[in-house]
Amino acid sequence: MIEIKNLHKSYPMGKESLHVLKGLNLKIEEGEFVSIMGSSGSGKSTLLNIVGLLDVHDEGDYILNGELIENLNEKKAAVLRNKFLGFVFQSFNLINYKTALENVSLPLYYAGVGRKERQETAMEYLEKVGLGAWANHLPSELSGGQKQRVAIARALVTQPKVILADEPTGALDSTTTDSVMDLLKEINNEGMTVFVITHEEEVAEQSKRIVRLKDGVIISDEKVNQKVKA
Ligand code: ADP
Ligand code: MG
Repeated sequence: MIEIKNLHKSYPMGKESLHVLKGLNLKIEEGEFVSIMGSSGSGKSTLLNIVGLLDVHDEGDYILNGELIENLNEKKAAVLRNKFLGFVFQSFNLINYKTALENVSLPLYYAGVGRKERQETAMEYLEKVGLGAWANHLPSELSGGQKQRVAIARALVTQPKVILADEPTGALDSTTTDSVMDLLKEINNEGMTVFVITHEEEVAEQSKRIVRLKDGVIISDEKVNQKVKA
């Protein structure tokens, strides 16, 4: 699904440059649930932004769903994102003046889906995340966990191949964190590839594979021992 080979990324810093990703190799198969762990500044978001086609790498290869990503322009990136990728962010990124239902149906609007089908499909996904009864509420009327569920419904509504989540539980307390991770697990169990960034060990342990990033290199890549919760 996702393959990166010898990936490098630097940011310009005046006359110097900051070398953030230093030759990463990573392969994620369809249906995996992978988390990237690393302390703040280790390059996690940089990696996710490249994988999410929100930024471009300097060197190496990125292959998404069998297609080598090159000569990316904004239009091509948008087409690929809409087709393959769903995003979930720490700060939810919901539109405050739109209801939960409207937020979830927005990607369908951009995809050119008609009004009735938009409403029905968005409602289906809101119900899937347990928020059918909250369809007509504004984000300000929802808890943090509920907002993140709306964001997950919005990420799922266009039926992407991969969900990319950058610190999805970073703004949530531990109980709500568990419920959001349970939802991501459920989605993964249904076959979705899930790629989560986190700096919290407890969150990473909910996934099936942990890749550790330190100073721009992968220092370990291991399967998680699936513990049964007491
Ligand atoms: P993480 O998500 O692991 O905290 P980031 O990928 O956000 O790390 O950042 C890695 C390093 O790159 C940090 O030192 C950060 O300051 C720097 N950085 C991130 N984005 C930019 C940017 N757009 N321009 C310049 N430096 C950046
Ligand atoms: Mg980050």
